[in-house]
Amino acid sequence: METQLLAPDEEGIVAAAAVIRRQGIVAFPTETVYGLGADAMVARAVARVFAAKERPRFDPVIVHVASPEDVGTLWTEVPPLARRLMETFWPGPLTLVLPRRRRVPAIVTAGLPTVAVRMPDHPVALALIRAAGRPIAAPSANRFGRLSPTHHDDVLSQLAGQVDAVIAGGPTPVGIESTVVSLAEEVPVVLRPGGTPLEALREVIPELRTAPPLGPSASPGTLPRHYLPATPLFLLDHGPVPERSEQVDRLACGFLAFREEWSGFGRVEVLSPGGDLVEAGARFFSTLHRLDRAGLAAIIAEPIREEGLGVAMMDRLRRAAAGRAYLGEGQVWMARN
Ligand code: AMP
Ligand code: MG
Repeated sequence: METQLLAPDEEGIVAAAAVIRRQGIVAFPTETVYGLGADAMVARAVARVFAAKERPRFDPVIVHVASPEDVGTLWTEVPPLARRLMETFWPGPLTLVLPRRRRVPAIVTAGLPTVAVRMPDHPVALALIRAAGRPIAAPSANRFGRLSPTHHDDVLSQLAGQVDAVIAGGPTPVGIESTVVSLAEEVPVVLRPGGTPLEALREVIPELRTAPPLGPSASPGTLPRHYLPATPLFLLDHGPVPERSEQVDRLACGFLAFREEWSGFGRVEVLSPGGDLVEAGARFFSTLHRLDRAGLAAIIAEPIREEGLGVAMMDRLRRAAAGRAYLGEGQVWMARN
């Protein structure tokens, strides 16, 4: 299949919407990461998204709408708390989970009785949904388990030839996936930390829980191994990196730093010299992609302050590092899960 590269202008959006309407699949920019979209109401179209991503069928996808009014076709009911959250945070990186209408295809929700919906804060995404005239189901436009794409080049490097079209919208401004909150439980619960900080959500929902519940309502996408770079990633577990080490050739390793330059590594990337979590979030996946492409033996990541977007970034780093440990001169570098 040839993948069409479309401009993020009116002509490109009209062409992309036509692809969606004829049950094709299109990668498009949102404020969080690139999505791989299909007509949310057509199971066959959504199945093509799963096939292109090699995504397991037990992982539900988020449905994107262009206005809060569009949720009526997806959810059976819109409780007052959902309305308040939509008024406060939409358009934006907040996904809400509520019981679904029967007409939402089961493949979208992986058979769950709920559906996840959000309104993205990106002019191209909103124009595409409006032009298509229907909600668009879209997981991130990466191969399953790999790093989320924050630039159309990242989409092309993973999915060229597998998708009908890619809208070349350049870098995505937030850079971290949406926060997923389930309102289908007795007490609202965060299923995935993301681009909407928990601190902001707690101002509207003081009783918000963060521990994912066990059982059928647990969020399938929050598998421990997810968001993997191809290069092994190690999360630095406090303490200094040993100066010298028999086992580790530091020059063969890359270092992902939050704010300070580290020396002695083959390659060092600093997310935000000013220590700004929003800037770090916007650069997070693109920096990981860059390190991943640099031919390094390993990527070592420094922990990030766990507040605001730092919660979501540490969540992604822990998953990327899942289960790995490294011994170097008596030091243990390992993921703390
Ligand atoms: P993404 O790959 O960014 O589209 O991730 C979508 C994620 O949203 C899934 O992996 C789940 O964690 C979550 N999600 C989507 N739909 C539901 C749902 N109905 N119930 C619970 N979590 C959901
Ligand atoms: Mg994803």
